[in-house]
Amino acid sequence: MPAQRIDGQALSKTMRAEIADAVARHVAAGGRRPGLAAVLVGGNPASEVYVRNKRKACEDAGMASWLHRLPGSASQQELLDLVDQLNRDPAVTGILVQLPLPKQMDESTVIRAVTPLKDVDCFHPENVGLLTAGHPRFLPCTPFGVQQMLTRTGIATAGKRVVIIGRSNIVGKPLAIMLMQKPSKAFPEAGDATVTVVHRGTTDLPSVTRQADIVIAAVGVARFVKGDMVKAGAAVIDVGINSVDGKLIGDVDEASALPVAGWLSPVPKGVGPMTITMLLHNTLRAAMM
Ligand code: NAD
Repeated sequence: MPAQRIDGQALSKTMRAEIADAVARHVAAGGRRPGLAAVLVGGNPASEVYVRNKRKACEDAGMASWLHRLPGSASQQELLDLVDQLNRDPAVTGILVQLPLPKQMDESTVIRAVTPLKDVDCFHPENVGLLTAGHPRFLPCTPFGVQQMLTRTGIATAGKRVVIIGRSNIVGKPLAIMLMQKPSKAFPEAGDATVTVVHRGTTDLPSVTRQADIVIAAVGVARFVKGDMVKAGAAVIDVGINSVDGKLIGDVDEASALPVAGWLSPVPKGVGPMTITMLLHNTLRAAMM
């Protein structure tokens, strides 16, 4: 039997309606309206699309949203001054500095400049530290989206073998922390799984992925995961976004994986919309803190 497709768009729609309800209740009870300030430096076309989608999702959920643009030639100090202004603005509950930044800027310095209380991407080292210690303030949007996708599809992680392909700070590494952690009152989303992270330095990577009950691909290489790298019945979550001949292609080769896997999240309409949904969740959470 071919894999069941996981509809990230439908899951997102349900979750965004829940978030919009929660925003309305929060505001009706006298709480501050959540508001996301997005900062876009330069004119990267992909970043333009991401920021537009994030702002629209905020507005649809009843949140305020602002876009601050700086030219690609702006200095790092100009960006740090803008971030400082947003840190102090009480109407702004979440700040998103869209990456990548132009090469004259140091991403790590800029990430550290965002106050951790408005760091809805969960990139600040203080928030990464809290997550690693098992007391997260925020969960990073893409790993959180993957976790919600699994939970809401009824794919249990506790006691399962999970293999994550990719060790980036944005996806692979924080996702491994989330899925291996023991659940607690402070961290109910924790996965209690046995997690292995494979990467460019891994020898015989397919022999590792074939042992997994859940394979999560965050590689950035189109159609990297083939069906013969997947155990029969495994859940395969595709985080990848690759542009091939103007088409959006994931990190999983659907044609060969679909007949083998038990579940498969497609690209597009998989993890992408879930990432934006979790950004909304974090922006509301920041307003409620
Ligand atoms: P990255 O480039 O920072 O990391 C890629 C990881 O994959 C690295 O750790 C590297 O070791 C590993 N890798 C690369 N080539 C490999 C190979 N041949 N064999 C084994 N391992 C290999 O990327 P990232 O930021 O983690 O993003 C990964 C993918 O996910 C990209 O396609 C990106 O566009 C996408 N992404 C999607 C979302 C979303 O919302 N859906 C969010 C973030 C990233």
